[in-house]
Amino acid sequence: MKDFDYIIVGGGCAGLSLAYELQIHNKLENKTLAIIEPRNEYKKDRTWSFWKVIPHNFDDCIEKDWKNFSINISSNTNFLECSEYPYQSINSGKFYKKVNQKLRENENIKFYKNINGVNIQNSFIFNSVPPQIKYDEKKLWQHFCGVEIETKNNIFDDTIINLMDFDCEQKNSVHFFYTLPYSKNKALIETTWISEMSKDEKDYEMQLKNYIENNLNIKNYNIVYKEVGAIPLFYPSNSNKSNRIDIGTAGGMTRLSTGYTFLNIQEHSKYLRENIDNIHRLKKFEISKKYQFLDKIFLEVLKKNSKKMPSIFFKMFKCSPKTVIKFLSNKSNYFEDLAIILKMPKWIFIKALFRK
Ligand SMILES: Cc1cc2nc3c(=O)[nH]c(=O)nc-3n(C[C@H](O)[C@H](O)[C@H](O)COP(=O)(O)OP(=O)(O)OC[C@H]3O[C@@H](n4cnc5c(N)ncnc54)[C@H](O)[C@@H]3O)c2cc1C
Repeated sequence: MKDFDYIIVGGGCAGLSLAYELQIHNKLENKTLAIIEPRNEYKKDRTWSFWKVIPHNFDDCIEKDWKNFSINISSNTNFLECSEYPYQSINSGKFYKKVNQKLRENENIKFYKNINGVNIQNSFIFNSVPPQIKYDEKKLWQHFCGVEIETKNNIFDDTIINLMDFDCEQKNSVHFFYTLPYSKNKALIETTWISEMSKDEKDYEMQLKNYIENNLNIKNYNIVYKEVGAIPLFYPSNSNKSNRIDIGTAGGMTRLSTGYTFLNIQEHSKYLRENIDNIHRLKKFEISKKYQFLDKIFLEVLKKNSKKMPSIFFKMFKCSPKTVIKFLSNKSNYFEDLAIILKMPKWIFIKALFRK
């Protein structure tokens, strides 16, 4: 069995982001790294989108970015501008290709399909594989299915995304559609639920067909790509070990109120790279306690008041777009937090605070 200085378990978003960050900052010139990843081939399997509130290494993997977005409930639509923090969509296919090409330039980096070929005793491990999550009906998930469609005619306004369209069946949960128009005749359309993931919410194909044909009024289209996913809106319970740091979803990088994870992974990678020489004594990197606290209350409200959530989200976006974006991307100051909190219905949040 081979010895390595570092082992990254899981060559997905977090594992590859970290390896890339170490490689481009020459942290692997005199160190060895094994990446353990079981998949046989890398292909586009998800789309990572976010408001670009910080620089990252993957601008050249962007499918498209937008400076406008909208959110709507059945009776109203709010159009918002985000030129300061454009909304970006990363094509995971381009990301995997770019990172793997770069990593293969370094002979100190080796790839393995499983952990059996490497000696884990003397290595520092970065783990991105969450523990098996047992289905628990009390836990919340953001679960979704998206299809990329192509239309014959130019139908979409590709200058604006629809972040949340709540004008759809809610089934005692929180449900919205999300549309990212990549061009005038190509868009990713997603049905998204924030819920305990009951079975009757999972007829995603029917929901998408119905939405595309009846709400968007598109009859003539081809599906060219599909992605399905479920993001846990709770932190995985990993055990602490002195020679291991959890990264990615497994490392608690998901913002629980939104499911956004990608940029947190990038910040975590940068933090690990900057402190790699002191890795054994490093303070844990986490989403700030302030957001952990506020998100817990928010999800408590969401669980108990699903019917009110479309209007709560709608009200939140009545703040200046810059304030909401910074809040949802963990970059808000206390004045901005207060502006958001003041938009929320006080009584149900106070009740949730005491139930928490
Ligand atoms: C479909 C989808 C869309 C998403 N969209 C967004 C988005 O728009 N914006 C956003 O911010 N976040 C998004 N997320 C959330 C999050 O950014 C992604 O899940 C991201 O890929 C998390 O990175 P990760 O490295 O933790 O997990 P992954 O990228 O899933 O990587 C884990 C890796 O571990 C490997 N693996 C599994 N088992 C083992 C094992 N036993 N040993 C070794 N390796 C193993 C897997 O093959 C995989 O490559 C999305 C998630 C999904 C599922």
